[in-house]
Amino acid sequence: MKITRVRAGNPGMFTGQGTNTWLVESAGEVAVIDPGPSLEQHEEAIVAAIGTAKPVAVLVTHCHLDHVEIANALARRFRAAALGACPGPAFKPDRVLADGDVVVVGEVSIEVIDTPGHTPYHLCYRAGDALFTGDHIMGGSSVIVEHMIEYLASLEKLRGIGVTMLYPGHGEPMEDPDEVIEWYVEHRLERERQILAALERGARTVGEIVEACYLDVDPIFFLMAARSVGAHLRKLVTEGLVELPHGSSDWSSRVVFPLAHEDE
Ligand SMILES: [Zn+2]
Repeated sequence: MKITRVRAGNPGMFTGQGTNTWLVESAGEVAVIDPGPSLEQHEEAIVAAIGTAKPVAVLVTHCHLDHVEIANALARRFRAAALGACPGPAFKPDRVLADGDVVVVGEVSIEVIDTPGHTPYHLCYRAGDALFTGDHIMGGSSVIVEHMIEYLASLEKLRGIGVTMLYPGHGEPMEDPDEVIEWYVEHRLERERQILAALERGARTVGEIVEACYLDVDPIFFLMAARSVGAHLRKLVTEGLVELPHGSSDWSSRVVFPLAHEDE
């Protein structure tokens, strides 16, 4: 099995140095994982990197534009199947993948692992001792999380599965997967402790919590941080550690989040 990276020319706040498109090649066949943004130069770089191998599948981890924008077009160009889990509008899978499904590429079986959390639909792909993690685990940076309970469960699910390398959607490949996973779990739990401490000190809105907890982060990232704080708060509400006033379901930054049983 040969693994090749083609990095898209879309560096930025959300994409680091650019989206990683991964090629998995075996016995003359190749799968494209996260074909990336619609940039002509990127598409041609993918085609050049594939060379004479036969593309058999275009796989996507999740539906953020920087991962899927050219997925359907590229699959059509290759006459290969576009495969993934997320429903449109940016991506329409020819076949919807589910946990445990297998995509055969040459002599390699790529296994689908359902890992929701970063987005409601997120898949990781395992090929031998390699794991392609999309935005579930990024190369050394924190991930925006939409659903914290699912996200943490998805990290736990990957512990000890026996892979030796992680290939993320952004950043560099990583050795010691279990150590990396431990860092991500610990990072989230540390953030949760900070949020509970901020609530105890009197923070009552998402904005106040972000300001209290993200001291080391450029304010330009506060809007992104607010989404992860919202996900943490929904987890804490589910666990009964934080209560919404008057059964409010409004998660906007104006909502007040008193600690549970504050009035008792
Ligand atoms: Zn993403």
